[in-house]
Amino acid sequence: MNLILLGCPGAGKGTQASVLCERLGLKHISTGDIFREEISKKTPLGLKVSDYLNAGKLVPDTLVVDVVASRFEGEKGGVLFDGFPRTLEQAEALDACLVKTGRRVDAVIFINISEKEVLSRLTARRGCPKCGRVFNLNTNPPASEGVCDNCGGNLTQREDDTASTVSRRLMVYRDLTQPLVAYYRASNIFHEVDGNAQPQEITARIISLLGSGTPVK
Ligand code: AMP
Repeated sequence: MNLILLGCPGAGKGTQASVLCERLGLKHISTGDIFREEISKKTPLGLKVSDYLNAGKLVPDTLVVDVVASRFEGEKGGVLFDGFPRTLEQAEALDACLVKTGRRVDAVIFINISEKEVLSRLTARRGCPKCGRVFNLNTNPPASEGVCDNCGGNLTQREDDTASTVSRRLMVYRDLTQPLVAYYRASNIFHEVDGNAQPQEITARIISLLGSGTPVK
């Protein structure tokens, strides 16, 4: 099964992706995670994309598609795409890539949430660079300020989670990614879930949607 998680920045795609990949045995491809890792390792790709990420702008389609294709080629099992596609061009490139290998997108899950909620969520988000655990200063704060409960690492804020960059990311989402929601909504593989619910409820809802409409392989 190949799944796409759609939703604006901060909708909870990353949180759901980790749980769903474990439960459904899917490979997790998060373009945002890939780019952040390349940036932290200062690879040629990381150097090419870092200005886009820091400014809250989208990385050019050709670059993104090449990165995804290289991670995807040779993959025999199902894949969960998180943060990709983000433009109609990327969606078309993904379809072409899947068709070439006799595969398809089986389900698109749109996590719907208001921009107001997202703005407050993202600016309060802190992450542990050591173990990847994510906290929220308002709803899920660490026991000790600035310290990861899991591994004791020092929590940091993503450079693109500041209020001004989040606003820019939301604007980019409205302009370039929202048309993609309309594109998939017109298909029979589209499902929508309420992103304001508790994470466990959202997972249960997604699993139930997949169970009822789409074969879980
Ligand atoms: P995310 O972690 O998914 O919010 O992505 C963080 C940043 O990575 C975005 O603001 C973009 O700069 C870049 N990025 C991630 N995925 C894509 C994509 N599919 N297309 C273009 N840029 C992307």
